[in-house]
Amino acid sequence: MSSVARFFRRRWPILLPLGVLLAAWLAYAVISPAITGALQGGRTGLHGDMVWFELRQAFLQRSLAAFVWLWFFMLGGAIGSYLNVVVWRVPRGMSVAGGGSKCPFCRTPIRKTDNIPVLGWLRLNGRCRACRLPIAARYPIVELVMGLTFLSVAIAGPLDLAHPLESGIQSLILDGQWRPAASYAWQVTLLTLLLGAGLILYDGFPIPWSFAIFAFLVGTCAPLAYGELYPVEWGSGPGFPAWSRTPLTMAVGLAAGILLGAGVHLLTNFSSGPAGQRAGGVMLAFAIAGLYLGWQAVLTTAATTLLLTLAGRLVLGQTTVVLALFAAAWVQTICGKWMSLWW
Ligand SMILES: [Zn+2]
Repeated sequence: MSSVARFFRRRWPILLPLGVLLAAWLAYAVISPAITGALQGGRTGLHGDMVWFELRQAFLQRSLAAFVWLWFFMLGGAIGSYLNVVVWRVPRGMSVAGGGSKCPFCRTPIRKTDNIPVLGWLRLNGRCRACRLPIAARYPIVELVMGLTFLSVAIAGPLDLAHPLESGIQSLILDGQWRPAASYAWQVTLLTLLLGAGLILYDGFPIPWSFAIFAFLVGTCAPLAYGELYPVEWGSGPGFPAWSRTPLTMAVGLAAGILLGAGVHLLTNFSSGPAGQRAGGVMLAFAIAGLYLGWQAVLTTAATTLLLTLAGRLVLGQTTVVLALFAAAWVQTICGKWMSLWW
């Protein structure tokens, strides 16, 4: 076997996803504009130089867009990598501040280049570089889910990065509009917290106090400091003074979350696994969701959670309700723009 073939045989787990990324970029930035240009050029009879100029323009713009999307994916992946550390250490009473990632078996610190979200794990074929013991696929899966979450919310959420150069980034950098960026940070914070809570409960631990306190501190301080995070405020009628709107929205959302959490727990607790489902954990996670989403959105999210939990039980046999809540809140965030039009 030639050395090139041996190289590809050994390295395919990392080369395959890189190749898919490269192909997607070429299809988006080169092939698709070329086909459109050929069709248009044939119809309007554009001059050759003109077509070439437009193709180059499309290539530059779309490559920049692809780079922005990749950046959001890697941001989510990096936070997912940290979330893995938090979910492992906090329930065991370990500090999350000290030290970088280590191999769980031989305690060898993981190199910076091996710690690149998803790709680092693929490059090592899912094994520790030092002791060659397998590293659970759950770590890159959490990084992948977080990367896709951050990317999809950037595209479909308040930043509206479907066309990054025409909308979100431009309004942020050129017009200094912070609201889309603040809403984005608020939404991905909630989704990160819910995935973390879901994984902790999935592992059979209760949600640690420090985790809950962090979630509620951010959830109460951020809207009080910047009141435009809620899509729909509760007390916006004429009877309510302006200062009471944000606290009322938070309090009603929190109460709705707790009640819905209790309801969802009662409705889904019939066929839980051997460890049983923790009522406190489910209600706490729903309380966080209610605080961040407001009562309207947490209501639709609870309905989606029920559907996903029941579907998960039918397909997989068992579902952690709070992981279903994470998925439901993600759906709510992606589709919320259209849903909020109903209210
Ligand atoms: Zn190791």
